[in-house]
Amino acid sequence: MAENADLLARRMKAVPRGVSTAAPVFAARAENATIWDVEGNEYIDFAGGIAVLNTGHRHPKVIEAVRAQLDAVTHAAFQVTAYAPYIELAERLNVLAPIAGAAKTILFTTGAEAVENAVKIARAATGRSAVISFSGGFHGRTQLTMALTGKVVPYKQQFGPAAADVYHAPFPIDRYGIDVETSLNVLAHVLRADVEPSRVAAFVLEPVQGEGGFHMAPPALMNALRKLCDQHGIMLIADEVQTGFGRTGKLFAMEHYQAKADLITMAKSLAGGFPLSGITGRAEIMDLVEPGGLGGTYGGSPIGCAAALAVLDVISQENLLERSNALGARAKARIEEMARRNDLAPIDAVRGPGSMIAFDLVAGRGSKEPVGAAAKRVTTKALERGLILLSCGVFGETIRLLYPLTIPEAQFEAGLSKLEEALVV
Ligand code: PMP
Repeated sequence: MAENADLLARRMKAVPRGVSTAAPVFAARAENATIWDVEGNEYIDFAGGIAVLNTGHRHPKVIEAVRAQLDAVTHAAFQVTAYAPYIELAERLNVLAPIAGAAKTILFTTGAEAVENAVKIARAATGRSAVISFSGGFHGRTQLTMALTGKVVPYKQQFGPAAADVYHAPFPIDRYGIDVETSLNVLAHVLRADVEPSRVAAFVLEPVQGEGGFHMAPPALMNALRKLCDQHGIMLIADEVQTGFGRTGKLFAMEHYQAKADLITMAKSLAGGFPLSGITGRAEIMDLVEPGGLGGTYGGSPIGCAAALAVLDVISQENLLERSNALGARAKARIEEMARRNDLAPIDAVRGPGSMIAFDLVAGRGSKEPVGAAAKRVTTKALERGLILLSCGVFGETIRLLYPLTIPEAQFEAGLSKLEEALVV
């Protein structure tokens, strides 16, 4: 049996269905924007391991930093014996993150862990328990972050009862018929009907929804939330797990807004392929949890910290924020051309800041009706042509681009051409 098929059969036997895999091929090796499978087939990676590889697979500087760290110390547990890379990374994030005033940073391992701990900090800081998040948002698969997540299938079905005191407001997405005014009206209704503002610890939202379909929060929403926070002593938590580290053309997506978050969660591209997450927040809030209340055995691992310090260097040395904007503009222009072609599947709403680019598969030209099955066909055809591509969106109708910001020019264009071929009906 071919190696991919053999591994797939073994995977089906050994690993439960509950963890799904988008592409039925097995990675053997990867470099920048290229993955080779176990049979030697080559793929252009437009998924980046779900937004983890803004600096590409195994960036030489990241690998060099990790190698040096491997030879120094790999684990000491920050809560037992701290180490310099954690401190240095916290210092750098405190300066770089768009937080008003002095900031502090704590590190964890996964995105969900960062979001979950941000809620813990907000609860400790306010002495309140309620949390309000948004429909279509994705915040993780742990019990609390699952409750915050605004999509039932596949994330919430079978796992109830949901964590208590979590409420949802609709995220404003014009194409789903929800504008900012409607969203804020329903939020006001939630604050009258379900939970009084004086019991709300935090609003949690992604500045650009990731799994929900690359929809950007309009500035009017962010401003209104900030105002409510200031009026009622509520914390604003920006979940930047998917938007962080150059994806939107800024280091943090919150830099697109005047309104500032009290706490920012981050993970994924922070450490360029190594597991690391964190929260940067207002120092006076971050310090309100008593010693021992936060942490975790592996939180802020020395390897992850070394990788993240190299990632921050690479983003600035290789001008990846500029490149994010330049590549994104080119991707958008090419996809808009594709949208005008009659021989391709009908697509709509090419969107997104920087290189956080997405578009929807719709029922017909000029239609707004989402067609999830068409997006699935596109990702499958793309894989057959050697392009790893992800879908997302509430109806699974969205194709999202998450290519490394370090992708070589020719490969970037080749990837877009493969996307175009995958759209042929
Ligand atoms: N928040 C956002 C915005 C995410 O996109 C994700 C992962 N897709 C998470 C949280 C959860 O991160 P993890 O899978 O590392 O727990």
